[in-house]
Amino acid sequence: MNDKPTIAVIGAGLGGAAVGALLQQAGYPTKVFEQAPAFSRLGAGIHLGPNVMKVMRRIGIEDQLNAMGSHPDFWFSRDGMTGEYQSRIPLGDFARREYGAAYITVHRGDLHALMVDTLDPARLYFDKHLVDVDDNGDKVVMRFADGTTDEADLVIGADGVNSRIREKLLGPEAPIYSGWVAHRAIISADKLAAYDLDFEACVKWWSEDRHMMVYFVTGDEKEYYYVTGVPEPEWNHGTSFIDSSREEMREAFMGYHPVVQALIDCTEKVTKWPLLERNPLPLWHENRLVLLGDACHPMKPHMAQGAAMAIEDAAMLVRCLEEVGGDRYRQALELYKANRFERASRVQKVSHDNTWLRHDEDPSWVFGYDVFEEPLKHPHPT
Ligand code: FAD
Repeated sequence: MNDKPTIAVIGAGLGGAAVGALLQQAGYPTKVFEQAPAFSRLGAGIHLGPNVMKVMRRIGIEDQLNAMGSHPDFWFSRDGMTGEYQSRIPLGDFARREYGAAYITVHRGDLHALMVDTLDPARLYFDKHLVDVDDNGDKVVMRFADGTTDEADLVIGADGVNSRIREKLLGPEAPIYSGWVAHRAIISADKLAAYDLDFEACVKWWSEDRHMMVYFVTGDEKEYYYVTGVPEPEWNHGTSFIDSSREEMREAFMGYHPVVQALIDCTEKVTKWPLLERNPLPLWHENRLVLLGDACHPMKPHMAQGAAMAIEDAAMLVRCLEEVGGDRYRQALELYKANRFERASRVQKVSHDNTWLRHDEDPSWVFGYDVFEEPLKHPHPT
């Protein structure tokens, strides 16, 4: 008989899929509820550093990701105008040797599909928008927009930046618009063949107040991707993204290096996203509710570590439940926060400042982290 607590995960994004997969593997009866009716392959890429790949190894999809992704040998930072190199951060074999796993870049949709496939399909529910939870002390009762209810011993809010679980714990509060947007576009590499230019596997072009990060999202290097950071004082569109245009990109990156101009010329579709943040939250869990990922520490994406933090959270949460015993969930959740708050808050801060790898620096505190091996810090008694 299974005496592990029953767990509900709200949201099947990257953090929710990771925690769902790890919990199910560890034998926790876990259901995952996602509001979307289905997922589509949105035009976006994502970096997966060695710190995340170690979690992917545990989930059992490291080899598939290594086969699917692009393996840059370096992260380059270059002056947006002159092209001068500002940093050359070794990845490739160096990362595998020094940090214990590969550094890859992939298509976000491909990664997400692979992660969602690791969940038990009989316990994954789409079209389930959580509207309320009632933590009655013995159980949490969840109510969904379709009128159905369900219950669990523990509920994990992996429901993103506008988390309903966060709101339940801390009250309504909109995330902070950072004053920056990100443009995202995927370009067919066939188009780039017409240029006598070097399109590097992972490069960030910088100027004083903006940047463009560029990398391949497939191992065969057929899809190249850029994501920008550009100041824009207000965001009043009320949606999570809008369409942008080649003209807007030309204006935003006027005077930039010919490689950047070529990318803009080859752009067919480009979207624009507001970058949202929150200050570190005073509360990550209460009674039978707990948060992870963007629900508790949304950040500007300028370190390419937002999903990484969500996935690390997932692994640490499961580790703490196993360490303490799922029946002593309060202690497990305290242990979880004690081992995640400082790191997630530091990554939020560096992301906010947008200084990461702009100049040569040692990234081992991020990439070398192994969530399964890190000695556990014990929470101060309260
Ligand atoms: P989300 O991915 O937002 O998932 C939340 C899920 O919950 C969604 O599926 C949503 O539909 C569901 N949901 C929400 N409310 C409810 C509800 N009430 N009921 C049921 N379901 C609900 N991170 C990286 O590590 N590397 C990168 O290279 C990178 N690049 C980025 C580029 C940009 C432009 C942006 C904006 C972000 C980037 N990030 C990157 C950050 C990363 O996307 C987020 O940090 C990550 O997606 C957070 O994962 P999550 O699972 O916490 O939340």
